Amino acid sequence: MTNADLKGLYRSSVADTYARYDLCIERGSGATCWDFYGRDYIDFSAGIGVNSLGFSDPGWAEAVSAQLFKLQHTSNLIYTEPCARAASLLAGRASMSKAFFCNSGAEANEGALKCARKYSRDRYGEERHTVVTLSNSFHGRTLATLAATGQEAFHRHFGPFPEGFAYAPPNDLEGTLGALGDGVCAFMIEMIQGEGGIVPLDGEYVAAAVRHCRERDILVIVDEVQSGVGRTGSLFCYERYGIAPDIVTAAKGLGGGLPIGAILFSERTASVLGVGDHATTYGGNPAACAGALHVLGRIDGAFLAEVARKGESIRGRLRGFPGIGEVGGEGLMIGATLRGPSARGVVDAGVREGVILLTAKDRLRLLPPLTITDAEIDEGLGRLHTALKGAIA
Ligand SMILES: *Cc1c(COP(=O)(O)O)cnc(C)c1O
Repeated sequence: MTNADLKGLYRSSVADTYARYDLCIERGSGATCWDFYGRDYIDFSAGIGVNSLGFSDPGWAEAVSAQLFKLQHTSNLIYTEPCARAASLLAGRASMSKAFFCNSGAEANEGALKCARKYSRDRYGEERHTVVTLSNSFHGRTLATLAATGQEAFHRHFGPFPEGFAYAPPNDLEGTLGALGDGVCAFMIEMIQGEGGIVPLDGEYVAAAVRHCRERDILVIVDEVQSGVGRTGSLFCYERYGIAPDIVTAAKGLGGGLPIGAILFSERTASVLGVGDHATTYGGNPAACAGALHVLGRIDGAFLAEVARKGESIRGRLRGFPGIGEVGGEGLMIGATLRGPSARGVVDAGVREGVILLTAKDRLRLLPPLTITDAEIDEGLGRLHTALKGAIA
């Protein structure tokens, strides 16, 4: 297969729903990958925050293959070990009570929304069902999670959308408290808006909004699909805000490259969904859970300190780069405003220079594998510097 053959097969056979880069990848190792001609690329995208341990990490691949040779799937009607161990480890380390495993971020958020609606209905009746999310948020591509996404661009084409969603202005306490009134069952937030452009929430704003929710028994759902599993230098980003959410969702980096999502329930919400209320065929799949167990086993204090150090170093160096304005984010979840070149223009120039980048709205976004080495960072940043010069010229 050549790069050209592959692109032809896509053109004729794969639904045309992505603005793909001019890039075909055959194999990878760490934060480096190669196309069909053997040309190397430094990966600052981690498959959109998924490959937390980089490409085909040997320890991870061994743990997953060992599980594949032992038992790849049963139904959820049967007890299996990887699901139980992954749930215990993930919920325990997040100071949550229980976990439900599913297959994606949107699916985790769907389950979280169902749980919040049922919690409120059981206590206060059907009318109290509104979920407040933030403007500029992103929560997924199913109908309900599109409705939850606070961006008009996502509310086209597919109506009617599920009812019962309202939007509050992020980091505007008065506006947010105004939205969190009667009829509201849950407040759903990303601690750092990812697709929205790497926009962090203020600590004081979050603390006050969560206090308001507590006083009114409004559930707090934290969507950590992008920011979770070590990405920002703590296992979950909300830990650094000192809040105790009622529901947390995770996905992207959790399986190290295998599809898995998780809903974490606090004690208050752990028994809201009972037998028959929620299910998914692949959820808790032993192979996906073996991947998650390996990823979680690798993320200890020293690992997280390295994520924070590498993120600081990248942000510091980016600030002096041509065409780069404000640089923000936490750990290895990094966003930068561009002065002049378009975000997509920089991504395309990056591919030509051998570095894989992401955009978030009109900003440049970097989500490198958490295990990226200093040498790979140096090489990738050098290529990004050249790409920026090219995109400006
Ligand atoms: C990516 C993302 C989702 C959707 O996850 P999928 O696995 O694509 O369904 C939801 N919320 C946030 C914050 C995300 O970044």
